[in-house]
Amino acid sequence: MIIDCHGHYTTAPKALEDWRNRQIAGLKDPASAPRVADLRISDDEIRESIVANQLRLMRERGSDLTIFSPRASFMAHHIGDLQTSLAWASICNELCHRVASLFPDHFIGAAMLPQSPGAPIATSIAELERCVKEYGFVAINLNPDPSGGHWTSPPLGDRYWYPLYEKMVEYGIPAMIHVSTSCNACFHTTGAHYLNADTTAFMQCLTSDLFKDFPDLKFVIPHGGGAVPYHWGRFRGLAQEMKKPPLDESVLDNVYFDTCVYHQPGVNLLAEVIPVRNVLFASEMIGAVRGIDPTTGFHYDDTRRYIDAAPHLTDADRRLIYEGNARRVYPRLDAALKARGK
Ligand SMILES: [Zn+2]
Repeated sequence: MIIDCHGHYTTAPKALEDWRNRQIAGLKDPASAPRVADLRISDDEIRESIVANQLRLMRERGSDLTIFSPRASFMAHHIGDLQTSLAWASICNELCHRVASLFPDHFIGAAMLPQSPGAPIATSIAELERCVKEYGFVAINLNPDPSGGHWTSPPLGDRYWYPLYEKMVEYGIPAMIHVSTSCNACFHTTGAHYLNADTTAFMQCLTSDLFKDFPDLKFVIPHGGGAVPYHWGRFRGLAQEMKKPPLDESVLDNVYFDTCVYHQPGVNLLAEVIPVRNVLFASEMIGAVRGIDPTTGFHYDDTRRYIDAAPHLTDADRRLIYEGNARRVYPRLDAALKARGK
């Protein structure tokens, strides 16, 4: 079985974006603000948006199940206030739940949180609970920078985040550390802000005592871990100078990297540097990089090809990357699969 731990509903029917635009307009003119019930998307529209896109590519590329969350760049937690984010997250999560209900063999949900700059993180817990209990979601996306590129929140090791971590551990829910749109012109959203945030999140974990306080907390750092695998020696050296334990003792029981690296040499490096038990298959399809690599003739985000061709991996390694690790890191996913006899 091949589990893709990183997919977003980037192909949602346009009515969703229209509703969001009305919600944003309503921030200035409350009389024009839409009600949640104003958004109407039929099951057929959802089916069409999935069958022709993500599901088609999953079938072509041979992946079976995607952990599916709302479009990351649309989270845009910096827009409006907590109430804005609460309504928006609720709508986006419900749509992912509907996708997972229509295609239960192929999609299982991960929630976006209704984060808002300056709001206590505890205000996100009710939505997490709703998505886990009512929808059967197995993970969350946690935005370490809801300001959208200005980094106004405390680092991930700060106690600010602890109420959420307590809930994650209670429910057995890992978080993919995933920023949203950059509203800082210095940082291109998917080319810089995402990768910066992946690197930044890892360093915040390294410098904190977070995993001493939460030994069962699990973070997935997407996009291949940003710059982390490439600079592994730097991180090891910094940890050593800070008198921290080696990284495999201090962070690798809690931090995992996905395989959203869009070329063969990058995946080869990831597979050589990072222990196989910490690598999870993912493509982030259909996402930021949708084109065909002229040097290979295949889509950049067809990441299974790179795993299959990585010279350092054995077949047993590939089984861990494709399935075994995900079932360990996402215990609710494992339970859902077992309940279906898989
Ligand atoms: Zn993503």
